[in-house]
Amino acid sequence: MSYRAEYIWIDGGDPTARLRSKTKILDDNALPPVWGFDGSSTNQAVGHASDCVLEPVFTCPDPIRGGGDLLVLCEVLDTAMVPHESNRRARLTPVAERFAGQEPLFGIEQEYTFFRGGRPLGFPDNGFPAPQGGYYCGVGADEIFGREIVEQHLSYCLAAGLNISGINAEVMPGQWEFQVGPLPPLEVADQLWMARWLLYRTAEEHGVSVTLDPKPALGDWNGAGAHTNFSTRSMRENYDAIITACESLGHGDKPYEHLRFYGSGIERRLTGQHETSTWGEFSYGVSDRGASVRIPWQVEADKKGYIEDRRPNANIDPYDVTRVIVDTCCAALERAAQV
Ligand code: ADP
Ligand code: MN
Ligand code: MN
Ligand code: MN
Repeated sequence: MSYRAEYIWIDGGDPTARLRSKTKILDDNALPPVWGFDGSSTNQAVGHASDCVLEPVFTCPDPIRGGGDLLVLCEVLDTAMVPHESNRRARLTPVAERFAGQEPLFGIEQEYTFFRGGRPLGFPDNGFPAPQGGYYCGVGADEIFGREIVEQHLSYCLAAGLNISGINAEVMPGQWEFQVGPLPPLEVADQLWMARWLLYRTAEEHGVSVTLDPKPALGDWNGAGAHTNFSTRSMRENYDAIITACESLGHGDKPYEHLRFYGSGIERRLTGQHETSTWGEFSYGVSDRGASVRIPWQVEADKKGYIEDRRPNANIDPYDVTRVIVDTCCAALERAAQV
């Protein structure tokens, strides 16, 4: 007997990489082996030397096909088995290993927007829907668009064993969020990419597309982010470590270094309006949804917990975002001997 393995990888899309996948039929007793693909069709190679290598890094049950079928997330290598330059996961691995002793955890809030016929789902063919106000966490056919897709996606993620911590309808019609975590950096990023693939695939069956565009509708409509919640063991135990982490993110050129990895088009989203901070200015504060980094009120009350970096766009590569946050915050905590 055989099973189907869906090999999933991240392409060389610039400025924003996209997901690709193809199917391999395997004997029941075989583990998914290293495989390959035509990199000249994914912006990862030139035609006369087009082979790229797929190395499985994270496998889970395929909840869509069911049975013994698998989803297989891969890293992309060149034929010398060196990580391809588009392979951001390979850059995160050494940083995650270096600071693993601090036990960093991430919870990422993935916002996204459904589109049909070139318009956000729920936008009429002509004109605009009622202004924002009732859609966030709403209920009823006048507020909610695409819930059947969202529920199916959630069921698939849970069946695949992904650590989804919640879902909610967002501020604009057709806009939704799911959260992954808390998990260590590599795990949260692997699972977020896998959950994204399941989302595109689920929506496809409904004739709906998904965009992670940070500002999918012009005008007075919220953008789409990927708020990144972060803690280390010491931050989960004391408030001084929380403040050290916040300060480290605002230190020197760090805000600009981070924004380079916080998603294409970030200046379109971080306008200082619609629950965002202003692009060029760093700030942190308790309960402040207009700050770059928010300390949840409960964290201030408990004097321990986690921080929320609100700047990352929906279209981030989570391998990059978790890497720069761990690199900045864990190094500062180490220097302050708060580990
Ligand atoms: P918001 O109020 O900003 O909408 P959400 O409930 O959508 O917050 O998301 C919060 C995220 O933070 C969840 O993914 C949750 O798992 C994560 N989280 C909770 N505790 C921690 C922690 N100690 N470290 C990192 N992430 C955490
Ligand atoms: Mn949220
Ligand atoms: Mn949200
Ligand atoms: Mn948030």
